[in-house]
Amino acid sequence: MSNIYSWQHKLWQKLTQNHRSSAHALLLKGRAGIGKLDFALNLSKFRLCENPSPIGEACGACLSCGWFEQGGHPDFYQVVPEASSNLTGETAVASSVKSKKKPNQQISIAQIRALSDFVYMTGHQRGQRIVLICPAETMNTAAANALLKKLEEPPPHVLFILVAHRPQHLPATIRSRCQLVNMPIPDIAQATCWLKQQGVNKPEVCLAAASFAPLLALTFNEQSYVTQHDAFIEQISGPQKISPIELAEKMQQSELPVVVSWMQKWCYDLLSFCLTGKIRYHLSKMVAIRTLASIIDTKALVAFLRTLLSSQQLSRHPLNPRLFLEEIFFTYAALMAPNNVE
Ligand SMILES: [Zn+2]
Repeated sequence: MSNIYSWQHKLWQKLTQNHRSSAHALLLKGRAGIGKLDFALNLSKFRLCENPSPIGEACGACLSCGWFEQGGHPDFYQVVPEASSNLTGETAVASSVKSKKKPNQQISIAQIRALSDFVYMTGHQRGQRIVLICPAETMNTAAANALLKKLEEPPPHVLFILVAHRPQHLPATIRSRCQLVNMPIPDIAQATCWLKQQGVNKPEVCLAAASFAPLLALTFNEQSYVTQHDAFIEQISGPQKISPIELAEKMQQSELPVVVSWMQKWCYDLLSFCLTGKIRYHLSKMVAIRTLASIIDTKALVAFLRTLLSSQQLSRHPLNPRLFLEEIFFTYAALMAPNNVE
């Protein structure tokens, strides 16, 4: 199982040993950055392999494996949002920070309709065909309804693999027609060890910044992302430094959900320090956090964290990105100087 992450071995064995099971749709669910998509790709390759090994691996040598590795298997169809069609693995979140234009983040009905030709044609190999949809929750309502029709009357020999970071955003009607698979999360030691093998310099720091999702942590090691993140934290980590208007101006071109999640993690650490003296994400910023915690209005911080949750929803479609960020930064700045707010 050389291609399967160590924390997925058990699940892999379970799914590959029962691969003749009757499920025609799987829903692989779990947080972003833990290797769900890679698992789904490996599973697809295995299912399509002409000569899989008894221990549950694709042979890597047959025609089918060859096609799969070259990304052109005629019996495999992958659906992703337009915005992430150039990305592989789970690097979309970090990469999106850099992109300036905003391609469609959703999976459209046209993309699901286009599947019909594929699922109703005759399979090239032994009849098995696989459709991989990732992230499935990015299907808009029309697309989800179109998929539901296919799941309700499953075409023979077609396996649908849905990958979802936020399965609760999928219609219940879709979820109920899939076999649900909880994707495992590695423990910290396992993830740190894996990151070291990948050449990450400060695995603990990257892992904490990535909410303990190792594949996401790997992208955090990428220099431009780290630089942008560090610059942002630098701006908000000192009581004298923050200038909401300037900061909003600077960050408005960034991917807003990412900026909001940076803010959430930062405030989470502030609150955590106030309540327990411990922090989770910004291990190298202990001194700044201690200083801020001594002057912050804890009650207002709790309320702010709550509004950030709804900001996370709004951040996907803000009317005006600059104003959206200004509001967040002004509220944040006011936490540090509660006496100056009128
Ligand atoms: Zn093979």
